[in-house]
Amino acid sequence: MALVEAKELTKNYIAGEITVAAIRGMNFSISPASFVSFIGPSGSGKTTLLNMIGCLESPTAGVLTVAGQDVSRMNSRESAKFRGTHIGFIFQDFNLIPVLTVFENIEYPLLMVQNWPMQERKQRVEQLLAAVGMHDQGYKYPHQISGGQKQRVAVARALVTRAELVLADEPTANLDRETALHIIALMKAMRDEFGTTFIFSTHDPKIVSNAETVFTLEDGLLVASDTVGGFHG
Ligand code: ADP
Ligand code: MG
Repeated sequence: MALVEAKELTKNYIAGEITVAAIRGMNFSISPASFVSFIGPSGSGKTTLLNMIGCLESPTAGVLTVAGQDVSRMNSRESAKFRGTHIGFIFQDFNLIPVLTVFENIEYPLLMVQNWPMQERKQRVEQLLAAVGMHDQGYKYPHQISGGQKQRVAVARALVTRAELVLADEPTANLDRETALHIIALMKAMRDEFGTTFIFSTHDPKIVSNAETVFTLEDGLLVASDTVGGFHG
């Protein structure tokens, strides 16, 4: 069964007299444990699409299924609960909480979801810190680490609840090329280790070489789907 399935997915923004057709009837399907990139120029619809998959915005028309649930018709309380249990987010500007340490930033989603016992939280956070190569940095604050390290922390935070789907909208936009490639490789390694599906977007064709499936967007349309296999990892 597909983890994400879109059928004639459509999103219009209406601003006064003007309607912007941001997503114009898309059909695609994403399997569990896959590593997928949406690519396309600025304004092509990447953020709108990821926001719909992440249940942050609802479609105007069409059907969108995530983890077996029709998310197009959820109310805001249902979609908040759904996000909390199924989806992790990675942001382009990292979005770490400045007054919390690296350890506490990663722990944060566990405190939101359920009452995890402290010892289990510690174990889980330490496992993720090690997985992203930050095991000895947990005591630091976000201002004491580099941009690439901040994004590593954000990857760990997105994975800490074992969400089956992680969405990352231009996660490398604020990183230099080499660091960007490291973050993409890290996300893929996390997919391999935890079986998490990663969907990221980028406008930079040069950082998609690790993606197994690349969907190309142009002006709200899906114009190409390329599956290259896992040969680049
Ligand atoms: P991308 O992320 O690829 O740059 P977006 O999804 O942000 O593209 O935007 C797709 C289109 O939808 C653009 O024409 C953009 O101007 C429009 N758009 C996005 N968000 C809104 C909004 N909240 N209100 C009106 N138009 C929007
Ligand atoms: Mg965008």
